Amino acid sequence: MTLTEAKELVAQSGRMLLEERLAARTWGNISCRVDEDRIVITPSGLGYEAMRPEDVVSMSMSSGEWEGRLKPSSEKGVHIAAYRTLPDARFVIHTHQTYASAIGLTGMDDLALTEEERTALGGIEAAGYALPGTKRLANNIEKAFRKGAHVVLLVRHGVVIAASDREEAFRRARLLETVCRRACKGQPADEITHDEQMAKNLMASMSKAFKNVCHTGAAPVLACASAGKPIPAQLDDMAQMIGSRIMVAEAKEKAIQDALGKEAVVLVPGIGAICRGLTELDAKALCLLAEKACICWLHTQALEVNTKLSWFDTMLMHWIYLMKYSKAAGA
Ligand SMILES: [Zn+2]
Repeated sequence: MTLTEAKELVAQSGRMLLEERLAARTWGNISCRVDEDRIVITPSGLGYEAMRPEDVVSMSMSSGEWEGRLKPSSEKGVHIAAYRTLPDARFVIHTHQTYASAIGLTGMDDLALTEEERTALGGIEAAGYALPGTKRLANNIEKAFRKGAHVVLLVRHGVVIAASDREEAFRRARLLETVCRRACKGQPADEITHDEQMAKNLMASMSKAFKNVCHTGAAPVLACASAGKPIPAQLDDMAQMIGSRIMVAEAKEKAIQDALGKEAVVLVPGIGAICRGLTELDAKALCLLAEKACICWLHTQALEVNTKLSWFDTMLMHWIYLMKYSKAAGA
């Protein structure tokens, strides 16, 4: 594969991550091995919707030198660890997929994989927690690769998948999501009905008060909203984009407007979640994060596992995200 072909493949695969809901906005990252020393990797902080082949960064694994308009992904160490450890790895994706994130919080014991599934995944292991983008996280993942696993669950964060090509990587991501969904506990059995007319009315008035708002009435969100208790951050991306918790507001215009003045996401009993973003795409990504947070919360509650992130880690990640984001937005 030439350098140009590899860049095209990676840019196009970014849109696949979004379409298959394996990641939202700029989350997750993708790389492809071009030769012995060279990889191409997605840049840091650029949305996949607009990513072009020329935005993809070419870098040397041995020297760390890179060429391109944008910086390589901050998780480049994770990708390099995969190529160094697994001789058959040519394509690596890092996803924030929902159900694998939920299982990552409670451990793989209940996954009950068949031998066939384990083989198709290319072996699966979990890596211990470390803050995103750190050397420690890359080391923890490398340890899991050394055991021969091609799928590594990152506790409170997501998944890294190594494969011989793009098709195999996405096949593994989809299979992983299927087996994790099967093992996910505490989820509502059916769609929960919500007051659609009231949701419409409330959204109409929130759209006047805020520029970019979005609503989700997904069953797990409605279940959490009806429980009436705030949801603590269990996953890094929620800590980064939303903060330490998702609050609950009464289903009244004034209460929701006050809450959204301070918070990016608010749970409303009988309505679901209402999210406010800097852009329309941002608001949509927040809705996906809210759905994932609720699925994970129901799962950990059902298994009575406490996996709250520490207050310090949450604040640190949220602060770094806000700094980076305001810089990227040109503010
Ligand atoms: Zn990540």
